[in-house]
Amino acid sequence: MKGGARPAARAAELRRLVERANHAYYVLDKPEISDAEYDRLFRELQELEAAHPELRAPDSPTLRIGAEPAEKFRKHRHLVPMLSLANAFTEAELVEWEERNARLLQEVKGAGYTLEVKIDGAAVSLTYEDGVLVTGATRGNGIEGEDVSANLRTVRDMPLRLAGKAWPKRMEVRGEVYLSKSRFAELNAERERAGEPTFANPRNAAAGSLRQLDPKITRRRGLRIFCFHVEAPGQKLPVDTQHELLRQLAAWGFPVEPNHTLVRDLAQAHHEIAQLEARLGTLDYGADGVVVKVNPLRLHAELGTVGDREPRWAVARKFAPEVQITRLKEIKINVGRTGALNPYAVLEPVEIGGVTVSTATLHNFDLIDAKDIREGDWVEVTRAGEVIPQVLGPVRERRTGKERKFKRPERCPVCGSKVEYPSDEVMAYCSNVSCPGRVFESIVHFASRGAMDIRGLGYERVRALLDAKLVKDVADLYQLTPMQLLTLEGFAEKSAHQLVDAIQASKQQPLSTLLYALGIRHVGAQGAKLLARQFGTMKALRNASVDEINAVRGVGEAIAEAVAGFFDEAKNRKLLERLEKLGLNLKEPAAADGKGPLAGHVYVVTGTLPSLSRAKAIELIEAAGGHVADSVSKKTTALVVGADAGSKLERAKALGVAIIDEAELLRRARAKP
Ligand SMILES: [Zn+2]
Repeated sequence: MKGGARPAARAAELRRLVERANHAYYVLDKPEISDAEYDRLFRELQELEAAHPELRAPDSPTLRIGAEPAEKFRKHRHLVPMLSLANAFTEAELVEWEERNARLLQEVKGAGYTLEVKIDGAAVSLTYEDGVLVTGATRGNGIEGEDVSANLRTVRDMPLRLAGKAWPKRMEVRGEVYLSKSRFAELNAERERAGEPTFANPRNAAAGSLRQLDPKITRRRGLRIFCFHVEAPGQKLPVDTQHELLRQLAAWGFPVEPNHTLVRDLAQAHHEIAQLEARLGTLDYGADGVVVKVNPLRLHAELGTVGDREPRWAVARKFAPEVQITRLKEIKINVGRTGALNPYAVLEPVEIGGVTVSTATLHNFDLIDAKDIREGDWVEVTRAGEVIPQVLGPVRERRTGKERKFKRPERCPVCGSKVEYPSDEVMAYCSNVSCPGRVFESIVHFASRGAMDIRGLGYERVRALLDAKLVKDVADLYQLTPMQLLTLEGFAEKSAHQLVDAIQASKQQPLSTLLYALGIRHVGAQGAKLLARQFGTMKALRNASVDEINAVRGVGEAIAEAVAGFFDEAKNRKLLERLEKLGLNLKEPAAADGKGPLAGHVYVVTGTLPSLSRAKAIELIEAAGGHVADSVSKKTTALVVGADAGSKLERAKALGVAIIDEAELLRRARAKP
């Protein structure tokens, strides 16, 4: 043992040295020791812990290399709910926000604000006890997230043990895990070389990396974190303002985004925000705004929250979405799974918000005409919701006269069949039901998450399977063998077996999932669920009349006709017969009807609930055996009310129907029957 130190003392010393080196390297950006020296210390610690398992501690840096993969994540209930922020899109909206607060609490004006760059990543909550990280969780629904501690420990700039003193005994630190723009570009290049699908943007990549069951994968992604908030109920923080808190967080060892500032008033805030926005492109991380916070912490408690959902003391001043100008080289068309022709622009590659964009949607032919977008035009491009790029319109001043007007096709660009232009729709359709373009998209949809969820079957592999003529429709997927896959490029023994296993496993998906996966026009995930619950089996649904389907609550005429039309086609009936023979599950598990704490009760949901989405609330009620109705009547057990409730609330009051909030609903749904 080095220097004769006892193992426990030496392990503690090594942990301190390694973490100090990590902090210096990753947070302060000032390495203190050489890489070789770091490796030597790290290896010594690893060996010591291997020889003395009792010395393994939750704050050991050896955990940063990743624990064993988990089966699934445990739920983690946040000490204090993780709220979401209200948005202000203009200076005027920021002023309105201040006015609203000032009406509640005059002293807000003049109290000062902190401005913090709003990082575009995945929100996390870190629980520290006695200065040691014990749990790290995703935001989830704000009340409850997933325990991703093993993954968060692999984030290299995250402190496992706090430096300094005066931290609350038990506290939750809130932060944003992100992927730097440079790491994102690297990662996508690696994935492209490996023939794997690339990530759409750094935010998705960060969130996805955080939820890997194997922490070693998370570690390789190279996530980073910035922290900015502390919850320590019932305990005293050693600071009085948000600005001091940021400094305190840094002193405890947390990475804090360096561009934060303190301003006196909104006039100064507007100025600083404009400066920050102009500098945005120079940061190595995505940011979509600035968070403005009332500086004195004491005022946070006094201002409180709006319906347990948003704090009043903070608001996100969003930046205008970035717009870039580039050349539209060509207008191309792809055929969607419904046969719809989707025109898109092939662009001279341009960087927007840290992502290289080379194609953008043009939505439909009417829009191309209305905006007079021509091939060869210089066009303005933006990323809507920061994900799907779209062409805003041409820059007419830059026309040279060589631009070409776009002509609507009479023939499908994929199969050459006649194109139909229904007079009551903006979309055009390929008339060929087995158009290869449709088949491709329908198989991609069938395998996608939310549908049959066949892992490892994305765009490229579907394309390869079709090109090799190994599949012609979704039923063919279930007859694929590992041997066949091995004839394709990019498959090895292991990946071929994995894909076949994933395909076979999808046979167990319930009827509702299969219905959605089949891509029947108008039948979304929710509609598929309603149909499956009502009819129970594929056979019963197939034998139902349009009127019977239409009578299902929540299912409209359009869905009823589309479903009946689907079963009318001989080709589809044959497909379903094959799927049945291949052993797919064509049944929906019985709902909890007649059982559960809410059995025999009818609920109506209105307004925005603090944590549950509308779909989740309905799912919760139905899973507990209750029924959900669209409108309030005398039969209604209770109306579940969220923010901005409208006429249903009035009606419930008039009828004397009980009115409850989300918390009460959750209590009832979880009660023992
Ligand atoms: Zn076609």
